Amino acid sequence: MRYSVEIFPPKDGDVRKLAIPFLSAGASHISLTYGAGGSSRGRSREAALTLAIGGVPTAAHITIAGQTREEVDNTLAMWINTGIRRFVALRGDGDGPGLPFTPHSDGYQSSVELIERIHGLGASQIAVAAYPNRHPDDQGGDSDLDYLKRKIDAGATEVITQFFFEAEAYLRFRDRYVAAGLDAPLVPGILPVFNVVKVASFAKKCGEPLPRWLISRFAGLDANPEMRQQIAVATAGRLIDRLRSEGLDRVHLYSCNDAELTLAVCRLLAFPEEAGKAAA
Ligand code: FAD
Repeated sequence: MRYSVEIFPPKDGDVRKLAIPFLSAGASHISLTYGAGGSSRGRSREAALTLAIGGVPTAAHITIAGQTREEVDNTLAMWINTGIRRFVALRGDGDGPGLPFTPHSDGYQSSVELIERIHGLGASQIAVAAYPNRHPDDQGGDSDLDYLKRKIDAGATEVITQFFFEAEAYLRFRDRYVAAGLDAPLVPGILPVFNVVKVASFAKKCGEPLPRWLISRFAGLDANPEMRQQIAVATAGRLIDRLRSEGLDRVHLYSCNDAELTLAVCRLLAFPEEAGKAAA
């Protein structure tokens, strides 16, 4: 199974030290967030350059929220000049919790405009986001797929989903996606959950509430990180196995910079069970 790993620029330390073990564990590339996870856009710009110069295969995320067109173009030009050709093109969010996205008066007005721009720069890969459980700005009906089609027509080469906790959410969305005639790879985003309290508040903001069964799995384990780690890996592994049984051969791992947990999940991905094959 092919897998990419998403990280955000670490506050301290070398981003390469965080990224390289994932590549050694078989990740196809590193996906680096832009201004997310508490990091500034400046730190993301620098971290993407550091990875590219260090030869780390990198997909650089870029958003348009709160920026002029010139600012976005300058960032893209700097990255392109350093050899980055993979991007994750995103609209981004309003400047504060719960605030709606409002395009900058001198900025790109939508993710579609951004994708067109990146496509025009000769990117080799442009991933975009999709939401199996709907985005908070979703306008209902099939408007999410209509909008996704506009993103693909603008030049997106693949679609990465927001994280979800039940395989059925992804599979239902995939059925709608295929029925709508969309055929860019639809890569499931997997978030291994270790700290249920932290993830619950983050997930609520994203409109992806944690299922009760998942909360129950971690109940009473605040002081037992070893057991939480085991449950986190097992839960992510079962979700991935279910997707694999449905023919999926790629996933995108949201690492939240938790190297140990993500590397354990990478091992499950690198060495799946092969029926009937004994080691010796
Ligand atoms: P869009 O797809 O442009 O819009 C979001 C949704 O709103 C659409 O799916 C659609 O349902 C609806 N919509 C919008 N416009 C229209 C329209 N004209 N007509 C109909 N429907 C419409 N955030 C960061 O800040 N930095 C990151 O690095 C980052 N990385 C991410 C990576 C992934 C894989 C994902 C899933 C999300 C990431 N995000 C990141 C979060 C993302 O910026 C937010 O979810 C944001 O609110 C939406 O961005 P988008 O590109 O999906 O928006």
